[in-house]
Amino acid sequence: MIAKRIYINTIGCQMNVYDSEQIAGHLALLGYQQTASPETADLIIVNTCTIREKAEQKAYSFLGRLARLKRKKSNLIIGIGGCVAQQDGERILGRLPFVDIVFGTQAIHRLPIWIRQIEEKRCQVVDIKMDDDARAPESIVGLHSETQSSRFVTIMRGCDNYCAYCVVPFVRGRETSRQPDSIIKEIRTLVANGVKEVTLLGQNVNSYGKKEGLCSFAELLVRINGIERLMRIRFTTSHPKDLNDDLIGLFNHLKKLCHYIHLPVQSGSNKILKLMNRNYTRELYLDKVSKLRDTCSDIAVTSDIIVGFPGETDADFEATLDLIKAVHYDGLFAFKYSDRPRAPAVDYPDKVSESQKNERLQILLAMQDAITRAKNQALVGSIQEILTDGFSKKEISAKSANASQPAQATGRTFTNKIVNFYLDGDAENSGDIATGKLLNVRIEKALAHSLWGKPLVGATTAKGVKGVESYAA
Ligand code: SF4
Repeated sequence: MIAKRIYINTIGCQMNVYDSEQIAGHLALLGYQQTASPETADLIIVNTCTIREKAEQKAYSFLGRLARLKRKKSNLIIGIGGCVAQQDGERILGRLPFVDIVFGTQAIHRLPIWIRQIEEKRCQVVDIKMDDDARAPESIVGLHSETQSSRFVTIMRGCDNYCAYCVVPFVRGRETSRQPDSIIKEIRTLVANGVKEVTLLGQNVNSYGKKEGLCSFAELLVRINGIERLMRIRFTTSHPKDLNDDLIGLFNHLKKLCHYIHLPVQSGSNKILKLMNRNYTRELYLDKVSKLRDTCSDIAVTSDIIVGFPGETDADFEATLDLIKAVHYDGLFAFKYSDRPRAPAVDYPDKVSESQKNERLQILLAMQDAITRAKNQALVGSIQEILTDGFSKKEISAKSANASQPAQATGRTFTNKIVNFYLDGDAENSGDIATGKLLNVRIEKALAHSLWGKPLVGATTAKGVKGVESYAA
């Protein structure tokens, strides 16, 4: 089979990163190999996100730039997938007539059929069929040629929560969970190929398996914890209303479960939480954070916040700032509210002006930056075990410019903080420990969003050297 090249542009969340791996895996069956440049591709896929207006604009602007490429290379196939494709469907062909295929969030496993058809007949295809009763399709394990120590694994798809600002239930469908055996099999395959850490993905992992009567999410974590040679487990995202005591207790019990949770609060005002249809109060949220910290004193907590939701007054915004101070987050992802088609909040009155949203966002980010910096500063001088994750992005771009500099690598602590460090001196601290090794580092410097560390002599830890069979529950 002659190798053809595919370029995938992924926009959006980890779920899209995972879906892009699935796309690459399915199309590898047709002989497509990945390329890093659209100019050399025979097939270009844009995997889109519509959670915010900006992400949608980014997708359309990238697609618009492909018209020129298509004129130069008539055999080039261009596809758009993901949430924008699901949302806009056939309208995309009216707007961008050079696009060959529009495929929705539940059509990925049908891609090989459609691409083969386009190759043979040069036709246009739109497949945005949603089948809400369908079980989540089996995943295809896509493995890149370069070593990867950390991988995403989707355990469920869709969402049943219908938060007022969110389009996910409309573009990704109703919640469905994968069979636990299929998830375990996928992780075992990843581990056999060198993966050391998995991040389990779902819109609300806490409700895993409930609808289908499968095992609970806590039970699934216990099973995954027993997989030999897997070193670390993370998960995202947790809906606060479904975070239960069983799951909280596991942070103190499962040795591979990282001390980190992303727990989106969205607002600190009960009035706004109700309008958002979040189904919890700030008091309940704060109670869950206290329980997490009582169970696991060093757990890192991050969150999402939307500023300027319709009806948000100065007092509501103050309540959010007050909650941020109370929780003392390790990090925050904060966004300005934007209307999304089909989300109920589109029709809400009392929209907040753009200038007010900007002002509130700046105040909130400044407050969180100070907290993050102080938390990072408190780690200076401590010794942290990190899982190494390759060379830093800065290092890759600077490599050709200055080959005499020591290489700069990166890793994450058990609490998900990024630590950058030089691979110099000690012979052990060379290329082969840059990826997928547990390493002890002394934290020397705190930066705004990361830490700087120095590997200790003989720094791979006992767990890193001897393997991790002893981690099993
Ligand atoms: S829980 Fe709410 S915000 Fe999260 S995906 Fe579901 S509807 Fe969207």
